[in-house]
Amino acid sequence: MANLNDVRHYCQAHGCYASLVKSHTEYLKFHTKKHRDYIHITPQVEAAVKKSGVEEGLAFVSAMHITAAVYVNDHESGLIQDIDEWLEKLAPFREDYRHHRTGEDNGDSHLKSLLLHQSVTLPITKGELDLGTWQRIFYAEFDGQREKRVIIKIIGA
Ligand code: ZN
Repeated sequence: MANLNDVRHYCQAHGCYASLVKSHTEYLKFHTKKHRDYIHITPQVEAAVKKSGVEEGLAFVSAMHITAAVYVNDHESGLIQDIDEWLEKLAPFREDYRHHRTGEDNGDSHLKSLLLHQSVTLPITKGELDLGTWQRIFYAEFDGQREKRVIIKIIGA
């Protein structure tokens, strides 16, 4: 799913519609096999930046759920295990969350999502995602095994 729009601007000097700002929106879909998972999505975001044609702007990447997160950090398997253990320590699975009075069982998934946050905003410079040497973008799933989405919104010129 993708769409490409030009936001047109009326230019009084020339009496024409000049295209100043471009926007591009894409959705990534996930259905993880595991309950918790960490998925590297830098290539998909880079591809969306290319598709957008934006040279200078911002890429906004956001989980569309309250039991998932998008974060930037190292693409290193040991660290990913460390992050998972750290989140489980801070927001462990428990039976007795008040949220479970609703019949749900994912109180810890909501709390883990808050710890890593739902979105990141990244710079685009000269048509490329302008990340630091070790910065990579991840989708973190805390209540998987069902359909989930991430939105990529690119704005710029
Ligand atoms: Zn819930």
